[in-house]
Amino acid sequence: MQKLEYLWLDGCNPTAIRSKTKVVKEFLHRQHEVPEWGFDPIWGFDGSSTEQAEGGNSDCVLKPIKTYPNPLEDNSTIILCEVFNVDNTPHISNSRNKLVNTVVDSTKEWVGFEQEYTLFENDTTRPYGWPLNGDPAPQGDYYCGRNYGESVGKDHLDACIMAGITICGMNAEVMLGQWEYQIGPGPSIDMCDDLWVARWLLEKICEKYDLTVSLHPKPIEGDWNGAGCHTNFSTKLMREDEGIIHIDEACKKLSKNHQDHILVYGVDNEKRLTGKHETCDINTFRYGISDRGASIRIPWQVERDKKGYFEDRRPAANCDPYLVSQKLIETVCK
Ligand code: ADP
Ligand code: MN
Ligand code: MN
Ligand code: MN
Repeated sequence: MQKLEYLWLDGCNPTAIRSKTKVVKEFLHRQHEVPEWGFDPIWGFDGSSTEQAEGGNSDCVLKPIKTYPNPLEDNSTIILCEVFNVDNTPHISNSRNKLVNTVVDSTKEWVGFEQEYTLFENDTTRPYGWPLNGDPAPQGDYYCGRNYGESVGKDHLDACIMAGITICGMNAEVMLGQWEYQIGPGPSIDMCDDLWVARWLLEKICEKYDLTVSLHPKPIEGDWNGAGCHTNFSTKLMREDEGIIHIDEACKKLSKNHQDHILVYGVDNEKRLTGKHETCDINTFRYGISDRGASIRIPWQVERDKKGYFEDRRPAANCDPYLVSQKLIETVCK
């Protein structure tokens, strides 16, 4: 017997990942391709429980688009799906479909995500490692230093590697209980798919540790860093010699569309983008070399090489990467 984990995005705000398990007699897994199915792969779910339908007319359709070996269980495959209506039109919540329709050339527009997250002990409002009463020592020693939750992060890194996800690193973050992993770089649709599967894997791993993972952009009010999902972006022209010209052009276009981008960069992001911590405030757009207080940062090695990519620091940890990538391609490439 084989277990298939069907994954899809719900209609909630912020969007979250959902899954349910189907047991089949036989299933031949081949990395990343939708295989020859020995059965009807299309499945459905009750959209009234995921904010995707009304109770009276609740059927939504799951269309498999990609498979990953499930590193957390034996005899199990992850089936990433898009949500469709019963009349075969893409569901309004289907942000992946929007990105697919926006992509100019799927091999040329690359993204890379830095997913920050905060671990919480179950049934508490305090992050992992925090004392029961009062605050821990102020920020300073936690970033790439002494933090809590390393084994969770490492288990997750291993799981992502085994699943064939394009993951390129991880690090302890600025607040106690806060971590980051990096997806990419690679074609936008694939990297967004990988990020959603990576988010799902982390939820499942945390369950085994009696922890929960939060993607809230400002999990703890006060003088504590928020959690973002910095989105690094490049086109083929930006990666070629003198590509810096195209990076500069992109920044100018982005400066004219700041509010449109903020609209899809995550819920409660205004609590994070105050200007007091990792970026400038939500109503200001600024770009600069090595400037981690800017909206867009051009890394120093990109300035040196005169080619590469730029980093959009605005997206919140709870953003939908399909929508963020869609907006970047729309603004920069069209
Ligand atoms: P930071 O210094 O901002 O913490 P990280 O090392 O955490 O940077 O992350 C760098 C990110 O940049 C990774 O997600 C990586 O995939 C991405 N990246 C690297 N090169 C490119 C590129 N050419 N195009 C798009 N993204 C890229
Ligand atoms: Mn980083
Ligand atoms: Mn970070
Ligand atoms: Mn960054």
